[in-house]
Amino acid sequence: MTDIILFGPPGAGKGTQAKILVKRLGIPQISTGDMMRAERKSGSELGKKFESFMTQGLLVPDELVLELFAQRLQKDDAQSGAIFDGFPRTVAQAEALDATLAKLDRKVDHVIALEVPVEPVIERITGRRVCLSCGHTYHMRYSPPPPSGKCVECGATDIVQRADDTEEKVRTRNSAYHENTFPILAHYEPGGAVSRVDGIGSVEEITERVMNALG
Ligand code: AMP
Repeated sequence: MTDIILFGPPGAGKGTQAKILVKRLGIPQISTGDMMRAERKSGSELGKKFESFMTQGLLVPDELVLELFAQRLQKDDAQSGAIFDGFPRTVAQAEALDATLAKLDRKVDHVIALEVPVEPVIERITGRRVCLSCGHTYHMRYSPPPPSGKCVECGATDIVQRADDTEEKVRTRNSAYHENTFPILAHYEPGGAVSRVDGIGSVEEITERVMNALG
């Protein structure tokens, strides 16, 4: 049983590394951001509640996030561990995660903190494109989508730039990270779960660092 938080500012590479870890470790990625985008795409009432926060680059209120998260953790594939990506984002969410896992006789085993300074993050995020169907990400310079426009992972033609991936929104999201999310590290540090990983380098190099940190 392994529960891992992939931690770091927007654009640190959490989603990219999470997808690789899914294949290597056989446990699912739980990305609250992806789940919220899917909810919005479905046109549900819950999705509508997320919209204004997300388009402004602000955090969605904890109670809405926790509802979504609790439903996801109950699914069969998440019974032997998960990779949390973009969750928790506040200390209250971290406490709720700890309590939920404790009821299942689980705990946060690793917090992998990907460290990337703000300027590379802006370049990564403004060049980012994402498949709305499967969440696979591209970068216009480093890994552009194929000319056909079909996603290499799932074949859908929904590859778009996220509305919150502009420089202005990235700066807002980065402030939210420093103000609300960064303190989570201090919450997990006393338990010895935190590993800091240099998030600058090739995707493969960073995966190796993450795997080393996971032991
Ligand atoms: P992400 O895809 O992780 O970059 O998340 C995109 C946006 O979704 C964030 O800027 C927030 O508006 C919202 N969001 C995703 N996860 C959370 C969370 N755990 N808590 C609050 N807001 C979130």
